[in-house]
Amino acid sequence: LWASKFTGGIVEKTINGVTVNVYADRPKTVIETLQNSAQLFPDKTALVMGDDRVTYSELNRMVNNMAYALRNKCGIKKGDRVAILLTNGIPFVVSLYAVAQLGGIAVPLNTKLKSAELEYMIKNSGSKLLVLNDSWWVNIEPILRSIDNCREFYVVGREINGTRQFSELIDSDSPEIVTTEIDEHDVAFIMYTSGTTGLPRGVMNTNFNVIHTMISYKRIYNLTSNDRTVIAVPLFHVTGLYAQLLTYINLGCTIALMPMFKTEEMLRIMEEEKITSMIVVPTIYVMMLMHPDHEKYVMSCFRVAGFGGAPMSGETVKMLRDWLPNIELHNTYGLTEIASPGTCMPKEDALRKLGSIGLPFPVNKCKVVDPVTGEELPPNTEGELLINSPNLTPGYWQNPEATQKAIVNGWLHTGDIAKIDEEGYVYIMDRIKDMINRGGEKIFCVEVEDVLYSNNKVMEAAVVGIPDEIYGEIVKAYIVLRPGATLTVEEVQDWVKERLAKYKVPKFVEFLTELPKNPNGKVMKSILRKLNQPEILNG
Ligand code: AMP
Repeated sequence: LWASKFTGGIVEKTINGVTVNVYADRPKTVIETLQNSAQLFPDKTALVMGDDRVTYSELNRMVNNMAYALRNKCGIKKGDRVAILLTNGIPFVVSLYAVAQLGGIAVPLNTKLKSAELEYMIKNSGSKLLVLNDSWWVNIEPILRSIDNCREFYVVGREINGTRQFSELIDSDSPEIVTTEIDEHDVAFIMYTSGTTGLPRGVMNTNFNVIHTMISYKRIYNLTSNDRTVIAVPLFHVTGLYAQLLTYINLGCTIALMPMFKTEEMLRIMEEEKITSMIVVPTIYVMMLMHPDHEKYVMSCFRVAGFGGAPMSGETVKMLRDWLPNIELHNTYGLTEIASPGTCMPKEDALRKLGSIGLPFPVNKCKVVDPVTGEELPPNTEGELLINSPNLTPGYWQNPEATQKAIVNGWLHTGDIAKIDEEGYVYIMDRIKDMINRGGEKIFCVEVEDVLYSNNKVMEAAVVGIPDEIYGEIVKAYIVLRPGATLTVEEVQDWVKERLAKYKVPKFVEFLTELPKNPNGKVMKSILRKLNQPEILNG
């Protein structure tokens, strides 16, 4: 369905008994993509961060220095896991590629997580070393004893007892170019996502997976080395890391990094850095459109607006079109399990097929099946969306059970309910997974419910997503207290805040005398959700 310029050079390949489409002409490893760009564009600015600018040759040199130091000082070798707990910035990018150069596995961690959440991921991944900002040390210190697989800590920022400075890893010039034998199917990243059981799962993404991500975005967004982007979403998520950072480094583009999204700063960077293209969560466009001065900024270079990670309302799409009439709009659907790209809306159809997530990326296949029988369903019938793709993860880290459930015969069960129309356009209709999508940040309800149940005043708890203008959905908790027990809304929120990342804390808490249940005793969340439909909320 895509024009031939997007589909050329695609061949079938059978990997572990599963046939997938692959791009025939492709680099093989992540580190190779940086090294190629450094050779082609040595003096070009690769990264912009505040007043700092780093060229491709400087970036490549820092990466090589760090790879050398990690190998020679810290004993990191192929297959070792290195955790990264950093906000967007140059140290993040250098660490990531240095680990890739050694054939190691980078484990980017969500900087918003609390000690217990981080503890699980550091232990589960078996990370040997952690690179972190000084500000996150407060979350690591309490778990130092229990994360005994991880004994080395390199800190960006102030000196902290028992840790070393990140600068030690990059400041001394390496006497050699570090080389490692890396196979394209070697795992390069573990990205943690929450699971339906409540425990996070580490999605393994190989070099091969993310190389296909880079090429898919390049083709569909029509990217070249002249593109300039800004990364305003966190690098610990696939959108920032694969769809943006890796994709644009592969092409030798200039990338502005934002440690934290701020609307005015974003608008300023887009104007000053002459940003041409980006992919961010819808909330970022909503915030920019809500800024009273957004129309004053000159956006004449901006030509491709990708958005994904969460649904964007038709209203926002139209407002974006009115603000910037000449840009290409691409609703892009993806998941961590497929290293980001799943489907994408062709630029011509953004308004004609409003509400659709578009067509499968050229190397991907999609189908909709009956969630009970597994039978493929005809057009316009709702069922579970399945994806076959060269980007598909080989599985969850040390969790074959979860892998077998999620991937059957090379098809990923997305947990999203979708339909595909007679022209092949996919529409997300609902979700099977009990998850809240707060502006792209995923919250698995069971995780919050487990924390609520751990309070002995709580007899029953159910967490649902309710509509929100900016974030799409926000968290609401319904609680039934034990007889005689009392709790205030603030006490409930504080209880969760102490144990989970702030974005998981229920914005609203309502106490009920009982939860609606079906005859089998299962809480009927659809009824709770209906209580929050806008017309009911308005009275
Ligand atoms: P993650 O693994 O965190 O990237 O989350 C993947 C999930 O985000 C998908 O299964 C969808 O539920 C949701 N999602 C991603 N992109 C979109 C989109 N463009 N529209 C609607 N939902 C999306």
